[in-house]
Amino acid sequence: MRVVITGGCGFLGSNLSKYFIENGHSVVAIDNLLTGRLSNVEKLFDTGKFEFIKYDVTNYIHVSGRVDAVLHFASPASPIDYIKYPIPTLKVGALGTHKALGFAKEKKAIFMLASTSEVYGDPDINPQPESYWGNVNPIGPRGVYDEAKRFAEAMTMAYHRYHKMPVRIVRIFNTYGPNMRIDDGRAVPNFMSQSLKNRPITVYGDGSQTRSLCYVDDLVRGIYKLLLSNLNEPVNIGNPYEITLLELAKTIKKITGSRSKIIFKPLPVDDPKVRRPDISKAKKYLKWEPEVDLNAGLLNTLKYFKKELCN
Ligand code: UDP
Repeated sequence: MRVVITGGCGFLGSNLSKYFIENGHSVVAIDNLLTGRLSNVEKLFDTGKFEFIKYDVTNYIHVSGRVDAVLHFASPASPIDYIKYPIPTLKVGALGTHKALGFAKEKKAIFMLASTSEVYGDPDINPQPESYWGNVNPIGPRGVYDEAKRFAEAMTMAYHRYHKMPVRIVRIFNTYGPNMRIDDGRAVPNFMSQSLKNRPITVYGDGSQTRSLCYVDDLVRGIYKLLLSNLNEPVNIGNPYEITLLELAKTIKKITGSRSKIIFKPLPVDDPKVRRPDISKAKKYLKWEPEVDLNAGLLNTLKYFKKELCN
């Protein structure tokens, strides 16, 4: 296949690009480098199977030649990033999805949308199955991401129903691993860089909120399986192992051998209290489930961040 990945230089886009190339495909990455980085994909150029186009996909998209799949992964994805770039986040989720769908239709390609567990908002059921409609504050600071992705899902299903296009919607839960920016503000990079520098580890709220963290290699494998399936409706991909943020902070402090103190800071507005994917659908239809446990995944990520801090 020749696949186009929008956001191909970001955390997930770059890991996906690598996976596709390793599996014999070629990749065209489109990225405006707002939160993505060329350093994430530097090594891929040597394969001869990777092309990069610096472009903002909220505008008309054109790539010459055959395209078999369009994966729309462009978007700021960390809360501090999308709160810093609220309008680009809304635009890439809304206008960018529309342009990427139109482009996929033109190329007769399969379209995949990177959606998110944020479509469930601050959920009042736990775990969250795909059938749950969510509890999102449309006008809160996180609404710029959540509502853009909800619109993106609606637009994707409209193209599927109206234009009969093959589409895939992956609802991605918290993911971590190499190629995350150490300063992206999310819990894993924050706790790791704070631990490595023996600075205070900042737990927001009382740390009783939960998340379920998936190692990026597991996620990418699930996304690939979903793309090759025939499921046109949303599928959760994530690791159902749920822990509190305080436990995560303690785990990271321990594996880094850090002398950091754990301190408590105010909980961000609308921060979900719980989050855990129901992955029955992925298990049943994709025969997928995560394989990397939290400890192993954190150790790999630690290796990556140690190198990053030396550069
Ligand atoms: N969090 C924290 N300390 C930090 C960064 C994040 O306690 O330094 C908390 C945050 O409030 C949330 C959880 O960690 O409850 C996960 O946050 P993240 O930004 O990683 O992703 P989210 O799941 O909120 O999108």
